[in-house]
Amino acid sequence: MKEEDISGKAVSKVYFSSARALKWKYDDSMPGKLERLLREIGLANYFSPKEWVAVKTHFGSEGAHRVVRPVFLRKVVEGLKSIGVRPCVVDTVRIKGLDYLDVANQNGINHLSVGAPVVLADGLYGKDNIMVKAGEILGEIAVASLIHDIPAMVVCSHVKGHINSGYAGAIKNVAMGGVSSSHRHCGWKCGRGAMHTIGEGDLVWDSEKCELCYQCAEVCPLDAIVFEEGDELVWDGNTCWRCGRCVRVCQSEAITMPGDDERFLRSLAEAAKAVLSTFEANKVLYVNFLTEIQPECDCMPMADVPVIQDKGILVSDDIVAIEQASIDILKKSVPLPESAMAGENVPSDGDILLALHKKDYIIQVVEAERLGLGATNYDVVEI
Ligand code: SF4
Ligand code: SF4
Repeated sequence: MKEEDISGKAVSKVYFSSARALKWKYDDSMPGKLERLLREIGLANYFSPKEWVAVKTHFGSEGAHRVVRPVFLRKVVEGLKSIGVRPCVVDTVRIKGLDYLDVANQNGINHLSVGAPVVLADGLYGKDNIMVKAGEILGEIAVASLIHDIPAMVVCSHVKGHINSGYAGAIKNVAMGGVSSSHRHCGWKCGRGAMHTIGEGDLVWDSEKCELCYQCAEVCPLDAIVFEEGDELVWDGNTCWRCGRCVRVCQSEAITMPGDDERFLRSLAEAAKAVLSTFEANKVLYVNFLTEIQPECDCMPMADVPVIQDKGILVSDDIVAIEQASIDILKKSVPLPESAMAGENVPSDGDILLALHKKDYIIQVVEAERLGLGATNYDVVEI
């Protein structure tokens, strides 16, 4: 929903409800507030009876339990069903498909809990995808076929930190989560790996730095890393998706993969544009959950304690506005005690995620606006 300010610049509406519960009433609970937010934006303004709608979330990881909770996904599903829409809850393959459905179930996301089918948008093997024009960095990218074909989507994003993107919200959820890891003909180069790395994306191992903890091998979804004789890392570059997990878990910086922060952040916006280009106007809504704001991505094998207190839920039809509004809210925070940021120096603008990961994460939002995905100019409607 866009209006114009006095200079004629587009202003997008972002609906927000705080996480604070001040009354002993269901209406003041977070599920109750989510119901009200969805009523306020008016789901029927976007979706038609009998239309199929993907509720896009992140299923998490074995060990990373701080995903968007099933109770919230269920509220979105119920809201959609109340206007006659046919929802399904989806994510794309990040580890082998059957294992990933098990992870979803372990994290409480299943048909019974959310009230709709829980499906993999790019098939059990993560290779059901369609190449879509992206932009100057990526060229084309493999968009999950379900997301490509379905007419409408509600993007439910768990806002948190991220070792590579600094901040992870709706743009990252659409970009990484709407794209497959691999394409059946052009492999990782047409998938997420094209964002994570450059060139051939060859993994480099420094045996001097390696402490032989084997975490890199354990976290690899494809068993592309093995240790021969127990102390010699062997990497299978043909199998590897270039997902970068091994690099992220290595605390000794003994393995690296070529990359460039600015390119990565800009490519997120580009991939998000490619995914969203498969929808007609006004067919995608965004729900950002500023809850359990942990330092890292939900695809890691653990979830640390949150660094920022729960802030609330935002809903908008503008992916740029909701990201900017989420970031602006997070910047008014103080680091939580006993968290990764406890006792750390936070700059006067309160940017905890910038201080934590030292990534200029706003690039993804600025680039998304430049690519025409929305406006950083927004009005908050607090309910
Ligand atoms: S995670 Fe790093 S330190 Fe541990 S085995 Fe792998 S390369 Fe070595
Ligand atoms: S980048 Fe690392 S973790 Fe990911 S598939 Fe390749 S070897 Fe495995």
